[in-house]
Amino acid sequence: MKNCIFCKIASGEVPSDIIYEDDKVVAFNDLNPQSPVHFLVIPKEHISSIKDINEENISIISHIFLVIKKIAHEKLLDEKGYRIVNNCGEFGGQSVDHLHFHVLGGREMLWPPG
Ligand code: C5P
Repeated sequence: MKNCIFCKIASGEVPSDIIYEDDKVVAFNDLNPQSPVHFLVIPKEHISSIKDINEENISIISHIFLVIKKIAHEKLLDEKGYRIVNNCGEFGGQSVDHLHFHVLGGREMLWPPG
């Protein structure tokens, strides 16, 4: 989608610190990390948020979670654990309108989040 920063990252038009890529998704380190490990996993297809997931595109979610599991394992996060976050909409704290999952690890997370 035109003017979507994550579409531009997915296409390579905007550089990012990509750590994984396949035909459906891209994972890259967050520009403004909130923990020692903080990466994002996004679909290459433009999907604005979880609100736009439906019966036709739901399979991207399971794929994203398998990719998260693989990268987290490779980054040695399994033993201590990690947090997966999806912000949806204004009150959810979503600032980029392209579906993405944050993966945060390498420190103990607090609950409840702010
Ligand atoms: O969930 P939310 O939409 O707030 O998260 C967007 C995330 O995308 C932020 O953590 C921000 O640091 C990250 N970002 C990035 N590279 C960009 C633009 C945003 O890593 N070029």
